This record gives sequence, C-alpha cells and structure tokens, in this order.
Amino acid sequence: MGGDPRCPDCDVALEEADLYTGQGEFRVRTEDESDDVLAAVGVTKTLDVVPRRCPECGLVRFYATK
Ligand SMILES: [Zn+2]
Repeated sequence: MGGDPRCPDCDVALEEADLYTGQGEFRVRTEDESDDVLAAVGVTKTLDVVPRRCPECGLVRFYATK
C-alpha cells in the first residue's frame, strides 16, 4: 500500500472517521464470488467499509476492504 489515502482536492491525509447507520454494519455488496458456502446459495459477498474524512474540506470517502 502507498500509505494513507489522501484527499484529491487538498492533498492531505484522510483521517479515519466513524460511521453510524443505525442499522448495524455498513457494508458493500460485490459481484465477486464469495469464498464460502454462501456463494452456493446465491448470497453475494459483502465487504467491510472503512470511512475516511478529509480534515480540510470534509470530503468523506469509503474504502471497501477485502
Ligand atoms: Zn479535502
């Protein structure tokens, strides 16, 4: 990895941010096949999401982790 992600506008390192959905974990659905048995029953894989916030302009980006 090339270090912390940076804001494309401000070119400063994005800070980790907390995300509240009120419905539990916030996840990303992917078309990738799941490695586990859920794929066999048609359940698509989901990825954990890490929110990052720019301290300068407030931009929030989400990074899906494998
Ligand atoms: Zn920014």
